[in-house]
Amino acid sequence: MKLTLLGGAAEVGRSAVLIETENKRFLMDYGIKVEEFGPAELPLVPHKSVHEVVISHAHLDHVGFLPMVYEKSVVPWHATPPTQALAELLIQDAMKVNKINGFENPYTVESFKRAMENFYPAEYEETVSMRCGPKLTLHDAGHILGAAICEFYIEKKKVVYTGDFNLGETRMHKGASFAEDIDILITESTYSGKEHPDREHEEKKLVKNVKWALDRGGSALVPVFGVGRAQEVLVIMHEHFPGTPIFLEGMAVKATDIYLRYPEYIKDPKSLHDAMHDAIIVKKPPQRRKAIKGGAIVISPAGMLNGGNALWYLDNLPENSSVTLTGYCAEGTNGWMLINKGTILDQGKEKKLNYHVDQVDLSAHAGRKDLWDFIKRTSPELIVAMHGDNCFQFVDELELEGFSAIAPRIGETIPVKL
Ligand SMILES: [Zn+2]
Ligand SMILES: [Zn+2]
Repeated sequence: MKLTLLGGAAEVGRSAVLIETENKRFLMDYGIKVEEFGPAELPLVPHKSVHEVVISHAHLDHVGFLPMVYEKSVVPWHATPPTQALAELLIQDAMKVNKINGFENPYTVESFKRAMENFYPAEYEETVSMRCGPKLTLHDAGHILGAAICEFYIEKKKVVYTGDFNLGETRMHKGASFAEDIDILITESTYSGKEHPDREHEEKKLVKNVKWALDRGGSALVPVFGVGRAQEVLVIMHEHFPGTPIFLEGMAVKATDIYLRYPEYIKDPKSLHDAMHDAIIVKKPPQRRKAIKGGAIVISPAGMLNGGNALWYLDNLPENSSVTLTGYCAEGTNGWMLINKGTILDQGKEKKLNYHVDQVDLSAHAGRKDLWDFIKRTSPELIVAMHGDNCFQFVDELELEGFSAIAPRIGETIPVKL
């Protein structure tokens, strides 16, 4: 078997793994690298068309380039049903955002539609036979709705591609489940060099910053990524602030609707259902006026404050309001500027904001310790590290511990003995 990273090689973004067996080829994920200030970076295109695709989960860095496969061919792609539903939503949104920003779409709408028509559902723990030969089993990855650790039997070897995974418990997920004794492990390594702070502590920090504003007559803005983070935050807010109006906006609403369509894929669907039932869904901008009178919580995209409805709130929140960023903010984004300088860019000009600003880590990725635990428990013959900024260093550490590991460069083909 041969393995080539078409993207996601020593980087976070555009994950794409090409697997070639004798005369069949398939892809594990086909994502784009979303850029905050320009068009997305694309993965490489396989030298010959592929016969099949498996998608680990619906984040754009794993599925955003799927329609490209359908420009010239019609092949099956496998994922869990919620991954298909979220992928449809997110790819459509990406096409819309491209249009607004004046970027050309790399594929046609017809290819996108063809992709959606050729979806083959696989539930967790159900084994399906791929036309290419391998047997495929998807395990809960504990990352976002429908996210899967993908296990393949290729000839007699167990090859596992983690996609993005989380062993720890969150409000939505119990943590990844996986079969031990892996032969070849292709793993994400986003946090190979970093440990997450205690999750309970981070939740408390979020609650404290929201309370700070509410106690003083302000409103609390919580910018979120629409898929995963929005639902976590909604449930936390609903639990801690009963009776306080909670406004939910944009992509976060559509994604939550999809979460609720697949209750069997989340840990505690009732808490999300109840929180959504009580939330105020902003359908028309005038509804936002109530939120800026003070005494409200607003959960709104975008997570890094580059675009999205959260920006409108930053312009209009009353005095004594707070802003709590709930994830990573890339350097130069408004989120990053707000944390580091207390400013944002408003029509090209730096503008000072006087809100009570904090940032919490509600990551849905395995931290360093869990990554090592996972590897030690599965004791692979070969580890392929990808989806991380420190892949080369991680590989050195793995080798020191006696593992055989490699971090391929983009486009480099690695022969793997089966
Ligand atoms: Zn992800
Ligand atoms: Zn990812």
